[in-house]
Amino acid sequence: MVPSDGGTDAPADCIFCSIVARRSDAHIVDEDATTLTFLDLFPVTRGHMLVVPKSHIDRLTDLPESDYPAMLRAVRRACDRAERLSSHYNVSVNQGALAGQIVFHLHFHVIPRYEDHVPAWSKPRGRLADPEASDVLRALTMG
Ligand code: 5GP
Ligand code: ZN
Repeated sequence: MVPSDGGTDAPADCIFCSIVARRSDAHIVDEDATTLTFLDLFPVTRGHMLVVPKSHIDRLTDLPESDYPAMLRAVRRACDRAERLSSHYNVSVNQGALAGQIVFHLHFHVIPRYEDHVPAWSKPRGRLADPEASDVLRALTMG
């Protein structure tokens, strides 16, 4: 079993393990013993969050059953936060390269949707700038 802090057994090249271990920066939205939620660096829309298990697990089917409740509770908390921005949002997992997975550490996308956005992944995505991230974090976490 990989340590829950994404520690020494975690792959050195996994960006999400690096974020979990605080070796790489991320705009953290929420954390508990099992999960971490942070802003997507190339958001599909404003408020796009990623919910990850702290352990390096690639596939949903490899997640230990004991972690299901914590994982779903964290996704639920992210949905509560998304609803501060919009009552419309996607919750999704891209599993495998052909399904669009580019980071092979399990993550749930929570993507708020707005009237002026088509619900698609394909449009070009810009890098999240720090001032915008701070603004979104405030909107997602205040209160
Ligand atoms: P996937 O396509 O694997 O389902 O999604 C991976 C997500 O991770 C993408 O939406 C991408 O924008 C995001 N991402 C990639 N690298 C980083 C990073 O270094 N930091 C953060 N916060 N998000 C990242
Ligand atoms: Zn990892």
